[in-house]
Amino acid sequence: MGLRTNSVHKGVYKDGSYNSVTTPIYPTSTFYFDGLGKNKGYDYTRSGNPTRTALEENIAALEGGVGASATATGMAAITAVVSLLKAGDHVITGDDIYGGTYRLFDQVFPKFGIEFSFLNMRDVNAVKAAVKENTKMIWIETPSNPLLNIVDLEAVIAIAKENKLISVVDNTFLSPYFQKPFEFGADIVVHSTTKYINGHSDVVGGAIVYGNKDLEERGRFLVNALGVSESPFDAWLVLRGVKTLGPRMEAHQANALAIAEFLEGHKNVKKVYYPGLKSHPQHDLIKKQMKGFGGMLSFELDTEKVSCDHLFHHLEYFCLAESLGGVESLIEHPWLMSHASMGEKGLRASGITEETIRVSVGIEDAKDLIADLEKALN
Ligand SMILES: *Cc1c(COP(=O)(O)O)cnc(C)c1O
Repeated sequence: MGLRTNSVHKGVYKDGSYNSVTTPIYPTSTFYFDGLGKNKGYDYTRSGNPTRTALEENIAALEGGVGASATATGMAAITAVVSLLKAGDHVITGDDIYGGTYRLFDQVFPKFGIEFSFLNMRDVNAVKAAVKENTKMIWIETPSNPLLNIVDLEAVIAIAKENKLISVVDNTFLSPYFQKPFEFGADIVVHSTTKYINGHSDVVGGAIVYGNKDLEERGRFLVNALGVSESPFDAWLVLRGVKTLGPRMEAHQANALAIAEFLEGHKNVKKVYYPGLKSHPQHDLIKKQMKGFGGMLSFELDTEKVSCDHLFHHLEYFCLAESLGGVESLIEHPWLMSHASMGEKGLRASGITEETIRVSVGIEDAKDLIADLEKALN
């Protein structure tokens, strides 16, 4: 079945008592037993809940994994995945990953003896050279945030396989509609479902999708042990949002491409980062591993001509806000907002400047969004 069919039909538990077409919410902390050892598959909502199970089946089908865990946030999913490791283990990751992931890897897990190397993962040889005796995991984010750099999934996952490392791909930016990391041999896919999977900016959530049964068993144990599973209400909202993933991604992409082309031709813009532009330096790789370009773009504003604040204040349809992947357009300043936790050194190393602006392009009419930007940029 195609992804759009799966996103509408997978994991939807129609309720036979009243013939509802959608999955009900089961807001219960606990489930009664019919007798000792006899229940209907659920005992306590941290461990399992039918509404959450429905969402997990849906997301697992979209990514092509053997199963999934729905978590309270994207960071909860990432915390659970890194908890597969133990003190003394080493992880290779990018120097331009999501700011919150960077913070977790830089400031929290090292306290428990897990070591991280942050490097430019576009350089496959640098990844190869970073593998050490104690390396256990490679953490990939592609396209990266906010500069839309692309990591070669096939090449980097091959390094993981040669060295028996767990390969993890954060697929939040493209969603399974535009990129399927399991097709390149990834072991685990993670999501912040807060973003495109839910798509309506009304919930935070995450997901871990497993590429094999062994990882699924270990991952499910950790999600329950750490207590990071998603509430039934939130799971229900995400299940509702995911049904329109395909049409939304098409609309995000069409608008993002139109805006990227407009910005590239504007005199007050120095540079545009968008995988759909021919000027993107990794065009061949993009064609090889991505089914589309997504709805995120960034650009360098010529702040000698227009200040960032001027731009933000004169926009009508772009909210000045962090986050991404919702139907409404958002704009923000990575240096002072989404990526501030990286600190100046980390920001410079990843290529983010005081002039970098990130846009999450919504599904409004492209002509209105472009007119809005044109007015604010002039
Ligand atoms: C937002 C985001 C996260 C974290 O997800 P939360 O739901 O905010 O906890 C992780 N990775 C990427 C790429 C993100 O955009």
